Amino acid sequence: MAYDYIIVGGGSAGCVLANRLSADPSVKVLLLEAGGSDWNPLFRMPAGFAKMTKGVASWGWSTVPQKHLNGRVIWYTQAKVIGGGSSINAQLYTRGNAQDYDAWVTDAGAKGWSYREVLPYFIRSEDNERLVNAYHGYGGPLGVSYPINPLPISHAFIRAAQELGIPFNADFNGAVQDGMGHYQLSTRNAERSSASSAFLKPVRSRANLTVRLNTQTLKIDIEKGRVTGVTVATGRGIETLRADREVILSSGAIGSPRLLQLSGVGPADALKAAGVPVVHDLPGVGSNLQDHLDLYVICECTGDHTFDRVAQLHRTVWAGVQYLLFKTGPVTSTLFETGGFWYADKQARSPEIQFHLGLGSGIEAGVAAMKNPGVTLNSAFLRPRSRGTVRLASGDPKAAPLLDPNYWADPHDRKCAIEGLRLARYIMRQPALKPFVLAEHLPGDDLNTNEELAQYAYRSAKTDHHPVGTCAMGNGPGAVVTPDLKLRGIEGLRVADASVMPFVPSCNTNAPTIMVAEKASDIILGKPPLPPAEI
Ligand SMILES: Cc1cc2nc3c(=O)[nH]c(=O)nc-3n(C[C@H](O)[C@H](O)[C@H](O)COP(=O)(O)OP(=O)(O)OC[C@H]3O[C@@H](n4cnc5c(N)ncnc54)[C@H](O)[C@@H]3O)c2cc1C
Repeated sequence: MAYDYIIVGGGSAGCVLANRLSADPSVKVLLLEAGGSDWNPLFRMPAGFAKMTKGVASWGWSTVPQKHLNGRVIWYTQAKVIGGGSSINAQLYTRGNAQDYDAWVTDAGAKGWSYREVLPYFIRSEDNERLVNAYHGYGGPLGVSYPINPLPISHAFIRAAQELGIPFNADFNGAVQDGMGHYQLSTRNAERSSASSAFLKPVRSRANLTVRLNTQTLKIDIEKGRVTGVTVATGRGIETLRADREVILSSGAIGSPRLLQLSGVGPADALKAAGVPVVHDLPGVGSNLQDHLDLYVICECTGDHTFDRVAQLHRTVWAGVQYLLFKTGPVTSTLFETGGFWYADKQARSPEIQFHLGLGSGIEAGVAAMKNPGVTLNSAFLRPRSRGTVRLASGDPKAAPLLDPNYWADPHDRKCAIEGLRLARYIMRQPALKPFVLAEHLPGDDLNTNEELAQYAYRSAKTDHHPVGTCAMGNGPGAVVTPDLKLRGIEGLRVADASVMPFVPSCNTNAPTIMVAEKASDIILGKPPLPPAEI
């Protein structure tokens, strides 16, 4: 079978690309996704996220032992379902700081991706229920809403931050990122607005768009330096599919460099070590891995102030009824709806610590649940200097990759992360939270020195699920793709997903990935870029 464009990976970026490219009826588009469908209602329910980090619709990978975290192996959820990360994530809608994108241009050479140039693409996607101004718009495919019914403890948290000198911010995606408040969420009418539901479902019936689920791409087929198509595995066996114009990789920051390496494109020494014949030696593939590492404070509550008790059977049933009949109650919550951005170092160019208030304990995989109701405050250092790798264990496409985020390889990351953890702890101790918070459970009052807090982090830190950078765009020697997302040295191949971001933005990464795919679609179709924002 031949198509004009084959998109490999139906995640956040892949669904956007499928929509935008197939809008041109003259081109035939194929979207390939290794995972299955998102029919299960849990994908639609905002609170369904809690189940998702524990392995549902995921590849089931872990990191290699983390050298700078005492050898710990960390569970590393990566989505395997249509919609990808956007179908299983916590639905926080954040864009980061203007300077993040400006640095893509000045420090990586990603010409055309400055904040003023990418802001129109954020807005093109957006269907904001409340905001319309220089930073926001409505009418786009992606639902963006504020939390429906924040709990009293969430409001108290915002007051507590102000008591510590951190101002309230009503829009982290506007002119100023600093401060605490309620997040915007990628939800609409109390349902998850995933890339699948927002971008793909409305166009599934287009005659020029084919979507194949449960179809893992095993290899990109390359002949004499040009991509001809892909080889895929389906329930029925192995097939070869032809792309007359381009193959576009959108398999995510782990999946894209993994597939390139399985196809013989990557650092020659790493390919040889994995037993894969070298087709094109490109050292940046799978290098430059960046991620946000989460530390957290868990406190015991003075009463039933969070959603922990909803886990009791009769309350789960009632929550389900409330949701189905009235679209209200705990199921409408993404469980991490409130938080914000602040500084570990006041000299930093923009906020470098992000906070997520978790409305319970044990919400995410690997985080212990408490017996009594609890509340969690995550803190993540946003601009890590450590760089890791994605490599192959072998040339077998079924084998798990070797994921090494290499957290805290640079001591600066550890220093700032511990500063962030201290800040989280101070916020939880402020007067506004006294009626809600009984005592700190973790790290615990007896752990205070940097070394004690580092030891706590070695035992408990987790990924924030924001891998990027493994097929970085730019003009330096480590760049994998050019600023128009063409793979260096191979014709007919582009990458468009989180992997092309040269530096991780100071935020969650779903909205930035959707922006990348929006802009990529214009580049691929040869359209002129949207005019830069006037801000
Ligand atoms: C548990 C979790 C929570 C998160 N929470 C948030 C949040 O609240 N807010 C936020 O902004 N971001 C969040 N993120 C991050 C965000 O969702 C990701 O940055 C974003 O989804 C990345 O999009 P992508 O298109 O690059 O990759 P993905 O969305 O991961 O898509 C890649 C797709 O490619 C498929 N694929 C991979 N290899 C192959 C192959 N060989 N053949 C065929 N298909 C393949 C995968 O199955 C997957 O569906 C979270 C992520 C996770 C995992």
